[in-house]
Amino acid sequence: MNLSFDKLTTRGMRFVSAAMVVTTIVFFVATVMVYNSTDSQRSMLAKKIHNSGWIVYQAQLEFLKATSRLRLAAVSSHADEFEALKLRLELLRSRLPILYESDEADLLPGLTGYKPDLQIFEQRLDGMIDALSHPDLFEVSGADVFHEWDIELQPLGRLLQRVLLSSVSYNEATAQIEAQLDANPARIPLLLLFASGTILVLILLATERRVQMRLTQVMQGQAALQSMESSLLAVIQATPACVIVFDPASEQVRLINPAALAVVDAPLSDPDWKRLTRAAREVAVDTNGNPWGSITMTFSRRQGDVVSLRGSLCEVLWHGTPQALLVVADTSRIRHAELQVMQAAKLASLGEMATAIAHELNQPLAVIKMATANAARLLQSGAGHELVQAKLDRIQGQVDRAKRITDQVRRYARMPTDHSTSFSIRAALELAAGFVAEQYRAAGIQLLLRFNVSPDVMVMGEQIMFEQLIVNLLVNARDACETHALAQGGAPPRVLVHCRVEGDHVIIEVDDNGGGIAPDILPHLFEAFTTTKPADKGTGLGLSLSRTVVRDMGGTISAANLAEGARFTVDIPRLAAPVSAMAE
Ligand code: ADP
Repeated sequence: MNLSFDKLTTRGMRFVSAAMVVTTIVFFVATVMVYNSTDSQRSMLAKKIHNSGWIVYQAQLEFLKATSRLRLAAVSSHADEFEALKLRLELLRSRLPILYESDEADLLPGLTGYKPDLQIFEQRLDGMIDALSHPDLFEVSGADVFHEWDIELQPLGRLLQRVLLSSVSYNEATAQIEAQLDANPARIPLLLLFASGTILVLILLATERRVQMRLTQVMQGQAALQSMESSLLAVIQATPACVIVFDPASEQVRLINPAALAVVDAPLSDPDWKRLTRAAREVAVDTNGNPWGSITMTFSRRQGDVVSLRGSLCEVLWHGTPQALLVVADTSRIRHAELQVMQAAKLASLGEMATAIAHELNQPLAVIKMATANAARLLQSGAGHELVQAKLDRIQGQVDRAKRITDQVRRYARMPTDHSTSFSIRAALELAAGFVAEQYRAAGIQLLLRFNVSPDVMVMGEQIMFEQLIVNLLVNARDACETHALAQGGAPPRVLVHCRVEGDHVIIEVDDNGGGIAPDILPHLFEAFTTTKPADKGTGLGLSLSRTVVRDMGGTISAANLAEGARFTVDIPRLAAPVSAMAE
C-alpha cells in the first residue's frame, strides 16, 4: 500500500518536474521571440521614420531645384539653361511616383491618397519636358512660358508641403511609440524571464528537497534496518532455543547462538556441527520431498549422552544469500518427563490389566499343575517313558505360553526410549493385538484384524511406543464396548483393526461398536486429562500421549463417531521400500 503510494508520488513529482521544465523552456523561447519581435519592431519604426521622411524631402528638394531653374530660365533663355532645366524637371518627375509606389511609401499610411494629384503633376511635367525638347518653341513664346510653368507648378509645391507635414506628424507618432518602447524596453520579456528563472529555481529547490528527503528516508531506513538487525541478533543470542544458520550447499555454519553451542559443545570447526545440520536436513525432508519442515530428532553428543531436539528447518535470506535456518529447542527434559508420564500411564493400564494377565497366566499354570500331577502319578505307577515324556512336553508347551505372556508384559512395561528405528508396521500391530487378545477373549469382545499390508512395509519411530499407542486405542475400544454392552445389550461387541497402505502413507483404523465418543469431549479429546472414566480406571493421558507418539513419527491421529461406535484413524508416513525389496 505504502509502496504504491510512494510510486504514485514519485510519478506525480516526475510529471510536475517535466511539466515545469517544459513550461520554463516555453517561457524561455517566448522570451527570446518577444525580444526578437520588439527588436525588429524598433528597427522597423526607425526605418519608417528614416525612409518616409527621406523620400518626401528628396521630392521637395527636387521641386525647389526645378522651380529655381525655371526662374533662372525665365531671365536667361540660353540653350544650356534649357538643358539644365530639362534635367531638373526630369528629376522632379522621377521623384513623384516614388512617393506612392516605392516600399518606403508603403510605410507611410495615407501617402497613396495623394497619388491622383501627383499623377496630374506628372503629366504636366511630361508635357514641359517634351516642350523643352523643341527649344525653337521658346524663341516664339519667350521667357513668359517659364514664368507660367513656375506658376503652374506652385500647387505641386504646396502638395509636397502637405505630404511632408503628414509625414512629419506620422514620424512624431512613431517616435512616440519608439520612445515608449525605449522607456519599457523589455517589460514582458523581463517578466517572462523572471518567471522562467523563478520556476527553474523552484524546480531546483524542489528536486533538491526531494533528494534530501529520499536521502533522509534511506538513511533512516538503513538505521532502522541496522537497529533491527542488532535487535534480532540480540534476540537470537538471548533465546533459549538453538539457532543455527548454515549454507545448505557447503554445509558451512554461518551463525550460532549460545544455546546451540551448549548443545553441540564443540568449536565451529568441529565436524559435529555438520553431523547435526545433516541429520536435521534428513529429518526435515517430508514424504513429498520438501526439504523444509518441522523436526523431531535426537542428537548423540560426543560426551555420550543423547539430546532430544524439536523445532523446524526453513529457508532464510542471510546477508543476501539463501541459507538454511535451524531453530530447535532442547526438549530432553520435557521428553524425559513425557517418557515418564508415558511409562506411568502404561504401568497404570498394566495394573488395570493385571487381573486379566493373572487370569491368562493361571491357565498354563493350571495345565502345568495338572500335567505335573499326572506325570508323578505315571512315574509311581511305573508307566512307560513315552507317557511321562508326553506330559513333560505338555508342561514345556505351557511354560512357553506363560513365557510369551510374561515377555509381552515385560516388553510393554519397558521404559520407552527416544531412539527411532525402522520397524515393520504389521509386526508391531500383531504384537499390540496379541497383548490385548486375552483380555478381549475374557470380555467376550470380538477382535477382528484386517492387515492389508505386507510385513516389509516399514515405518520410522519408537516401536514400543507405537505398540503402546495401538494397545491404548484397543483398551479404550474395549472399555467403550464393555460399558455400552452393560448399558444397552444388543449387538455383540466387536472391534476391527484395519491397516492399509495409501500412497506413501500407512493408514490404521480402529473401529468399535461401543456407542461412540461423548460429544462434549470430542473437540478436546486429545488434550491431557480428558476422561469420562472413573478416577481408578482412567487417567485421561492415553490419547494425549498417543498424539505425541504419532506426531513424533510425522503422522496424525483423528477421531470420529460412526453409526455404532467410534473410529480412530492413525496416518503415518511409510518408509520408501529399499531398492532390493522393490526389485523383488
Ligand atoms: P482414559 O482412557 O484414561 O480416559 P484417554 O485419553 O485414553 O484416557 O481417553 C480419553 C477419553 O476418550 C476416554 O475417557 C473416553 O471417554 C474417550 N474415548 C476414548 N476412546 C473411546 C472409544 N473408542 N469410544 C468412546 N469413547 C472413547
